[in-house]
Amino acid sequence: SKMRDDRIEKTKTVCTYCGVGCSFDVWTKDRDILKIEPQAEAPANGISTCVKGKFGWDFVNSEERLQNPLVRENGQFVETTWDHALNVIQDNFTSIKKESGNDALAFISSSKTTNEESYLMQKLSRAVMGTNNIDNCSRYCQTPATQGLFRTVGYGGDTGTIEDIKNAELIITVGTNTSESHPVLATRIKSSHKLRNQKLIVSDIRKHEMAERSDMFIQPKPGSDLVWLNAVAKYIIDQGWEDTEFINERVDYYDDFVKELEMYTIDYAVEQTGLSREELIGIAESIHEADTTCALWAMGVTQHSGGADTSTAISNLLLVSGNYGRHGTGSYPLRGHNNVQGATDFGSAPNLLPGYQSVENEEVRRKFEQGWNTELSSEVGMTNHEMVDAMHEGRLRSLYLKGEEMALVDSNINYVQQGFEKLDFFVVQDIFLSETAKFADVVLPASPSLEKDGTFVNTERRFQRLYKALDPLGNSKPDWEILQLVANRMGADWNYSHPSEIMAEAASLSPFFEGVSYERLEGYNSLVWPVTKEGKDEPLLYESRFQFPNGKARFYPVHWTEPQVFGEQYDLHVNNGRMLEHFHEGNMTYKTEGITLKTPDNFVEISPELAEERGLESGALVRLKSPYGAVRIQALVTDRVKEKQLYIPMNNSGESAINRLTSSEADKDTDTPAYKETQVFMEILSTD
Ligand code: SF4
Repeated sequence: SKMRDDRIEKTKTVCTYCGVGCSFDVWTKDRDILKIEPQAEAPANGISTCVKGKFGWDFVNSEERLQNPLVRENGQFVETTWDHALNVIQDNFTSIKKESGNDALAFISSSKTTNEESYLMQKLSRAVMGTNNIDNCSRYCQTPATQGLFRTVGYGGDTGTIEDIKNAELIITVGTNTSESHPVLATRIKSSHKLRNQKLIVSDIRKHEMAERSDMFIQPKPGSDLVWLNAVAKYIIDQGWEDTEFINERVDYYDDFVKELEMYTIDYAVEQTGLSREELIGIAESIHEADTTCALWAMGVTQHSGGADTSTAISNLLLVSGNYGRHGTGSYPLRGHNNVQGATDFGSAPNLLPGYQSVENEEVRRKFEQGWNTELSSEVGMTNHEMVDAMHEGRLRSLYLKGEEMALVDSNINYVQQGFEKLDFFVVQDIFLSETAKFADVVLPASPSLEKDGTFVNTERRFQRLYKALDPLGNSKPDWEILQLVANRMGADWNYSHPSEIMAEAASLSPFFEGVSYERLEGYNSLVWPVTKEGKDEPLLYESRFQFPNGKARFYPVHWTEPQVFGEQYDLHVNNGRMLEHFHEGNMTYKTEGITLKTPDNFVEISPELAEERGLESGALVRLKSPYGAVRIQALVTDRVKEKQLYIPMNNSGESAINRLTSSEADKDTDTPAYKETQVFMEILSTD
């Protein structure tokens, strides 16, 4: 279109917030962001966006943006040149490596940065520094879901597209506050629910907006989802409603599964979950009656000590009812960050090289050793959860972390922050002086998505390109450029001049997305992995085979891990989740005035029953205490929560930050913190 003012530019980008992956044009004039204009051709969102995608961009020009590197001198940060900051990093990395070995260093990539940047972070860790101590924040959210899918169907991603959800006759959501956490995806469900007469079953401990709209809303006891999922699977089998043909032809280990389900009777499930017989049987009947069922889940499932097992139970239930490989069926673990899927796809994980190739596989290692012209460690590295213990024990001396507010978003943050203090050398790369960066020795100023080229992978496995709309602010740089500077200081010889070259290299080493290239992703073009050399992608997985050597899926029996209990005096359960307007700890959204003015101070939701019992009203000030810390917070009395359950939005970094209360307990299979298994006792500071 003809621009009235030739300084006005229009650039295609991808939202930097959630995993839905909305794409749109951003109109800019110099550094001013004039408007966000969605386009019908955008694959995930069409012409929709939510409040964050539409208005959440002021942070880009915030006065608080870091514009120069900082180094700590006599306890204080001083601004410095890139050259000096890199010298300090080079000296410290070199001496720690020499004194304590490669594994005394660790690296954490960011789900906010591009695929190319996650690829370079793990390459720096493995090829230059010689350690597999590399992880990313999917460890805090979705790794258990990935594990559940690895066990049963083979690929760690949503099995269909967002668009395909409309083809389901029945949608079951478990532990996802979809309207606030994945707003545009929720909008699409709301419209197909209405227009196509879909049935919606919502399981959650809190009555959120999707629960209100559902055809059936169940509120199991916290942490008991696995029990009802198994009981419904058993009931389906007991009625002879299982999909025999599908199971015979396409799934292994059915007999084991049936045997292991024996104890999950309806009576047992009623006792453990608090649900009624009618509700449990009603779910089984709904699945039986629907030709196609898909299941969506999120942190309400994964952030438990049995998070991977519950994710597995969801997948087992879909297998037993034949709900994979057809439109309108399948698993949808809803990814949180814009690029949390891509961070693991591109190898920022302690056991996986890019393209889900194991570091323990010799053939794979040899391929990467050739490609990178170096030797690689075969030892699986530390998860970010293990890194915290290693800091306390002195085994981990140095951490290089990019774009991750770990001091607030990890669980049991008092313990995490004490760990940071024990590090000998801590490098943080971010766009702001985050709470985490305040613990660092060197802070490197990075650029947000609008200031760089690259690609993201959204929750539906879709690669999309983002184009640079603005120049980096001040002396900040895109993360990929910074990583290249650090690597070359440490003896590498990287010469990437554009992210497209990084993608070409990553694709050449990863059969799983070997056909991905910038040419194929021009403009609004996109590809859904896996992508063949010829560029054929796979929006719907498992139509003909599952991702195991014999092409068959696997039943994987799982048993219930009861949620942890802190002790009798901690008599209230506290849950947490996202608020529509904000994203996580709010480093970006709280710097957008229009959003901040619209949202209240942090609050804890309290049920009317509990409020009456304790004699308090909305506006009361309370102190919540767990064994790990305490928060002071205002009460909001609402029937969204029931009985002794509390709920706190996680989007606060101040004295009411939820992770002052959470523990270091984690999912037994994946180390994902059990954020949702938190109990407190409540003191009333004022009653209204
Ligand atoms: Fe961005 Fe998610 Fe909102 Fe889309 S739904 S505009 S990706 S935050």
